Amino acid sequence: MAIEKPAIEGGTPVRSQTLPYATQWISDDDIDAVVDTLKSGWLTGGPKIGEFEREFAAYVGAPHAIALNSCTSALNLSVIALGIGPGDEVITTPMTFVATTLAIIHAGATPVFTDIEENTLNMDAADIERRITPRTKAIMPMHYGGNPVDLDAVLKIAGEHGLKVIEDAAHAAGAEYRGRKIGTHGDLVNFSFHAIKNATCAEGGAITSADPELAEKLKTLRYFGIPQDAYKRASSPTPWKYEVVALGYKYNTTDIQCALGLSQLKRLDEFNAIRKKYVDMYNEAFRDVAEIETPGTTPGARPSHHIYVIRLREGALRVDRDRILAALRAENIFANVHYTPVYRHPYFAETMKLDPADYPVCERVARCIVTLPLFPKMTVSDLESVVAAVKKVLRYYRKQ
Ligand SMILES: *Cc1c(COP(=O)(O)O)cnc(C)c1O
Repeated sequence: MAIEKPAIEGGTPVRSQTLPYATQWISDDDIDAVVDTLKSGWLTGGPKIGEFEREFAAYVGAPHAIALNSCTSALNLSVIALGIGPGDEVITTPMTFVATTLAIIHAGATPVFTDIEENTLNMDAADIERRITPRTKAIMPMHYGGNPVDLDAVLKIAGEHGLKVIEDAAHAAGAEYRGRKIGTHGDLVNFSFHAIKNATCAEGGAITSADPELAEKLKTLRYFGIPQDAYKRASSPTPWKYEVVALGYKYNTTDIQCALGLSQLKRLDEFNAIRKKYVDMYNEAFRDVAEIETPGTTPGARPSHHIYVIRLREGALRVDRDRILAALRAENIFANVHYTPVYRHPYFAETMKLDPADYPVCERVARCIVTLPLFPKMTVSDLESVVAAVKKVLRYYRKQ
């Protein structure tokens, strides 16, 4: 049988229209919710923020949720609110978006990376203990792709060493671990509602916590260090008075964004169910493709399937991963990479001076990961075109 030429080698592309790796799904209800808020008189600092916080806390099953302008701000405030700063270390993962690392550095603390697990690309819990020093104050895992890290192991180590657990749950809205939603395990759990996350506020973040004092502190810190928000002040007997009680930030979100978020939250479970259906279809389609390793799931976890990441088996192809990505683009499949290890970005390489050889699994895996399109709005026929393009490209570049 003749092997079909990929588009990058002069063949015909599998699809004529480009397929992004992710995009949001905005409904008429979402639009109406935003328009209603625009007409309500409250653009920012109004009732939708508290409503969004109550709904999200109830969804997760956490006592408190604090809404913010981004997950990056949330992560940064989480570190600060726990009193972690200069001279302190936070153990985290290098296989993440740089926001996780920035949050630690902007609080004045030092990030310390573990290696990762080959199968899930999550922080390797077995590598945490040897990275602990007298300066370590917290562990900050990131639930890669919405598949929760081994939280039993992380929480056990944290308990034994008196460390806080701050989770980067930017991928994990709706994910579960041992029967409970992500947002109810660690000390502070940070979510993103950026445009391409599992539910969106356009931009937005939230922190969930079981600690009422921390929740109050976070609300004060997010708005200049002023304990009352503008909405409450408007109904106070002395609305002209405010007091700054802490060195705060301008990290608050808006009613417009929370109105969109409230409307999106109603569909989060439906979105995640479609994501799961597509992941099952991908896994099934790639089961017999020798060049591909499909993603693993942590025992006891129900992932939220934020991204679908395959690994190309080392030594199985005549070309490198970047050539495969270029070939998929030529087929009009906009596959991507999540992520370049943080220590490999020029800024962190120059300032942290870490030895990549200290993260052997991360180094190896980072060379062979490919993120395939996955989002609820795509169709089964979109998915089939991805499978066809991947199989076509890999067949062509397979080592004979
Ligand atoms: C998107 C993302 C963030 C940042 O979220 P924002 O809301 O855009 O600030 C942090 N960590 C990870 C892993 C992400 O994917």
